Amino acid sequence: MDILLTTRQRDFRTRLRELLGGPEMRRALLEGSREHPDDPDPGPAYRVLGRHRWLAPDWPTELGGAGLDTACANILTEELAVHRVPDSAHVNSVRNAGRCLLLCGSARQRERLLPPLARGDLLAAVLYSEPETGSDLAALRTTARPAHHGWELHGTKVHSVKTAHCDLAIVAARTRDHPQPLLGITLFVVDLHAPGVTVRPVSGVNHEPFHHVSLEGVRVGPDDVVGEVDEGWLVITEGLAVERVGMDYTARVRAHLAWLRTRAADRFRSDDVAERLDRLSTAAEAGRLLAWSMAARLADGDLDPAEAAESKWLNSELMREVWELSQELSGPHDLLTAADPGAPEDLTALLLNQEAPGLSLSAGTSEMMLQVIAANLGLEAGDAR
Ligand SMILES: Cc1cc2nc3c(=O)[nH]c(=O)nc-3n(C[C@H](O)[C@H](O)[C@H](O)COP(=O)(O)OP(=O)(O)OC[C@H]3O[C@@H](n4cnc5c(N)ncnc54)[C@H](O)[C@@H]3O)c2cc1C
Repeated sequence: MDILLTTRQRDFRTRLRELLGGPEMRRALLEGSREHPDDPDPGPAYRVLGRHRWLAPDWPTELGGAGLDTACANILTEELAVHRVPDSAHVNSVRNAGRCLLLCGSARQRERLLPPLARGDLLAAVLYSEPETGSDLAALRTTARPAHHGWELHGTKVHSVKTAHCDLAIVAARTRDHPQPLLGITLFVVDLHAPGVTVRPVSGVNHEPFHHVSLEGVRVGPDDVVGEVDEGWLVITEGLAVERVGMDYTARVRAHLAWLRTRAADRFRSDDVAERLDRLSTAAEAGRLLAWSMAARLADGDLDPAEAAESKWLNSELMREVWELSQELSGPHDLLTAADPGAPEDLTALLLNQEAPGLSLSAGTSEMMLQVIAANLGLEAGDAR
């Protein structure tokens, strides 16, 4: 079964594939990794897409998009995964931060920031998590206090990726102590080159380095508040919704599974492997249909958070299964080849990148997704039998 696309959408996919598989994109990817081999800069590749207005294809043309529909944004996500263009910064910069600004930013913020984000000239990070605050964002400790006709931020943010290549960030900070802790959080646009900001890479479970960002007396103006003061939680929910439809996750599952199938056809002919691959492929198709239907619901303003949680949970857990199978199938030869910097990128990625464990944590962990699903079914913790 496949997704039914219009002629325009199919044409978009064809032209996108030509660009992503072509020499201009290869040069841009090389340029991004030459100077930063440990954490390639996606900027050059995104600027190639931006020149065609395809980095944010579904944004309005006056804001740097191509005015295309949500299906084209889904196609972009799928093709970035297939062509292994680093997409984490795209998720943060365009789909999360960009969406927050598109939906909740002031007219001035939209005019100033969205066109350069759509061109790839600016990259935005999303700085919510803190050393003691991940799943429970209400516990965040970064503060923003009124100062000098604006605000002054103090705190530490962790776990963001590609931040060293970013120019600005959407930062969540507490502006008021409130009996309901999800209230009293405000989102700010912060210039990552401003005095008081320090960005430092740290290694972690992920294939891309995480970053530790310290904010020491960072000044922002009144125009840098995104949405309403103390109501940042509503904006955060808008940004996370797009990640939780599971599109990035299903795209990666299918891209990795396709690679694994080729490899298995060459070298692993057992019925057991074939059966597991068939089962995973069927589940991956179901995951894809779920993600596409959630993306359509999101575009219609009709997304049910519990259904989105199902899609995010299913697709990120599938990714973990694909990864586990690939680990089982790899022999010493694969590991040696993968350790060789000249090895094909997809092999290195699949074996070494640790992408799968990270996916079950980012944008809400699998356990938190199960909690959302269980609550929707009226189950209490411990009810599952
Ligand atoms: C690849 C990747 C990219 C990321 N990118 C960003 C980013 O750009 N910006 C950003 O701000 N953050 C980012 N994060 C951080 C991410 O949002 C957090 O890792 C996530 O929210 C979990 O928070 P934590 O790591 O503090 O774990 P914790 O919240 O401490 O959870 C630890 C474990 O306990 C479980 N747990 C926690 N609470 C409960 C509960 N109530 N019931 C049951 N189980 C529970 C969790 O499921 C998890 O398994 C990223 C993470 C990853 C892996």
